[in-house]
Amino acid sequence: MKALLIYPEFPDTYWSFRHALPFEGKRAAFPPLGLLTVSALLPRTWERRLVDLNVGRLRASDIEWADIILVTAMLVQKESLQEVVRRCKERGKLVVIGGPYVTTSAESIPEADHIFLGEAEETLPQFVRDLERGEAQRIYQATTRPSLSITPVPDFGLCEFKHYSAMSLQYSRGCPFNCEFCDIIEIYGRVPRTKSNAQVLAELDALHDAGWRGTVFIVDDNFIGNKKQVRLLLPALAEWQERHQHPFELLTEASLNLADDLELLDEMRRAGFRRVFLGIETPVAESLKEAQKKQNMHGDMLDSVKRIQSYGMEVMAGFIVGFDTDPEDIFERQINFIRESAIPLAMVGILTALPDTQLWRRLKEEGRLLAESSGENTNCTLNFVPKMDAAQLIAGYQSIMRTIYNSREYYQRTLECLRRISGDGPAPNHYTLLNGALSMARIALRLGILDSERREFWRFFRRVTSEHREKFAESMRLAAMGYHFRKLAEAYG
Ligand code: SF4
Repeated sequence: MKALLIYPEFPDTYWSFRHALPFEGKRAAFPPLGLLTVSALLPRTWERRLVDLNVGRLRASDIEWADIILVTAMLVQKESLQEVVRRCKERGKLVVIGGPYVTTSAESIPEADHIFLGEAEETLPQFVRDLERGEAQRIYQATTRPSLSITPVPDFGLCEFKHYSAMSLQYSRGCPFNCEFCDIIEIYGRVPRTKSNAQVLAELDALHDAGWRGTVFIVDDNFIGNKKQVRLLLPALAEWQERHQHPFELLTEASLNLADDLELLDEMRRAGFRRVFLGIETPVAESLKEAQKKQNMHGDMLDSVKRIQSYGMEVMAGFIVGFDTDPEDIFERQINFIRESAIPLAMVGILTALPDTQLWRRLKEEGRLLAESSGENTNCTLNFVPKMDAAQLIAGYQSIMRTIYNSREYYQRTLECLRRISGDGPAPNHYTLLNGALSMARIALRLGILDSERREFWRFFRRVTSEHREKFAESMRLAAMGYHFRKLAEAYG
């Protein structure tokens, strides 16, 4: 059997990092981890190919080659997913779809032959057995949330490393918190499930043996959701990194209560975590309460961010406007918080009601839902009736974007972030002279010569070379990221 795995295209979002990727000569930020895991669940006797539309085209010959086509997608990829399914069905191929978008919008792609709802560790092997007997069902609904102990090491070898900025692995699924707008807890549940230490180390070994060096994104929605297990993992991770001379710089997502646990912060620094994404959402206590984001309500959030930064981790964060209880001055308050927290990459969005979330159910009951969410929180299309005047909300959101990604403001924040990130953790060992020089040449050309904001870039450059020379590579990465965010701000601001 010949299996073609296709990953639909992402639109231009914060996480696509599309405008920053050319600086390092990459085509996509992360590989399609879900599909690489699906591949590992297929019989070893099957031939397999991957087409990631974020790094290459889907050719008619790829489709012709395949006996079966497997596609997974998130909500933001739905248009590309529809196009892929249409093209494959036109050629009469057997099409199987799954993933988070399909799980929450089951019958949205009626042309697909087989539909997977929920996590596929148990249902995919069942499907393969049914298919071989000629008895495959149309819908495979996971009846339980499977233990991650049965999740295989993803087929990392299926993707071409050279096209990706980072590699990904998953340690846990689910989150114990209860944020009203969150779809993670609806899809993966509120009891975090984790892989064993041995599984995680096997994935690191696989990446290392295949030649990967650089950033590894632990894609969990909340890496510290099960603190007891994480405490057991971190020393093993640190020991692995030490033994392999720190080939990986780690990035993950966590809840803000990470700041309350100094031991955990120290362990994360030792294990090589250099960046962490936090869901801060809003500095307004009433809006945090409305969002049921209780974990952000103990203590001062600015102090929490500072504490995490002092452990050598750059903080990235999500912010939301559009809560019912947002006051009139919410936009200035968000700008001030972002400025004072020295978070360079602040992903600000307008609240959106994702399918099947508590927020979606409440707004539906209140008769305030307008449309299905696009999954993009930057595109200024509201899918519900806000309490604040809609035009005022959009204008306020745009003013945040214009302000925080103004070059001077961004570089200022970045310099403060660099100052706060202490440099006493183990240094990552993956910057090669060649790719460093090439990236620098591209950055100098684009940001230092061609860009209208070049004066601000050289001002930043001078400050970096005089005050943060040891963080030069980090600074240039952040300059490139700033360009990506500025382009998005221009598009949406
Ligand atoms: S902390 Fe994050 S993952 Fe957990 S419920 Fe809230 S938004 Fe969802």
